[in-house]
Amino acid sequence: MRLRLPRERPAEPPRGYKLANPVLSEDCGRIGFAGVAIGGAQPYGVVDEARCMYGRRHRCPALRCDCGFYCLHTFAQALALARAGTHRRAAILEVTVLGAYIRFERGMRYARQRVRVARIGPCGCGLPPEVFVDGGWGRTGWRALSGACRGCAAGRDQVSFEDFVRIGGGRLRLLPGHRDGPADAAAAPGPAVRGVPGPGAEAGVMQARLDRFQRQLGRLSGEV
Ligand SMILES: [Zn+2]
Ligand SMILES: [Zn+2]
Repeated sequence: MRLRLPRERPAEPPRGYKLANPVLSEDCGRIGFAGVAIGGAQPYGVVDEARCMYGRRHRCPALRCDCGFYCLHTFAQALALARAGTHRRAAILEVTVLGAYIRFERGMRYARQRVRVARIGPCGCGLPPEVFVDGGWGRTGWRALSGACRGCAAGRDQVSFEDFVRIGGGRLRLLPGHRDGPADAAAAPGPAVRGVPGPGAEAGVMQARLDRFQRQLGRLSGEV
């Protein structure tokens, strides 16, 4: 007997939450997000498709691989991850999960996503962010941005939240700080913004658990 994952047919695409750092392309023509774990080397756009991070020729999320985008189910889980230490200043993204997905206890691994809301992490001084400044690091072709209050941003190169949204195609919503709250980003359909396709295994904490699940699943289905 061959066991399969139960199929879901949700009325609307699932939502998820994840951590990432906002990035701006060197020519200032594109924005994106760099994940905080192994997928972070390749930033993704507002709407993007996962590619296998091992270069294998299969669609994400492949059952016997661990590629694909990752997200957590709830804002509270993402907030706990952000507060756990090293990612306090990362943005918490709310995403719409598109295409095929695999659901786990704590989150999902999936093929495509749209970033709907980005809650920008606090300024280094603790105040709510009002503008982006250079984050002091980057990826090839990209520089990271971090949120700053007006006072701390004075005298530095700045990118306004409005410009970030505009460069991203206008449908993204930015909120200052990590607080939870109404984030009704139900915008009208508009042009999809394509960025650099990236795999993005952002919720690294989930990884070990997912890998165990994968192996069990593989054994059950006789594919390992
Ligand atoms: Zn793969
Ligand atoms: Zn500040």
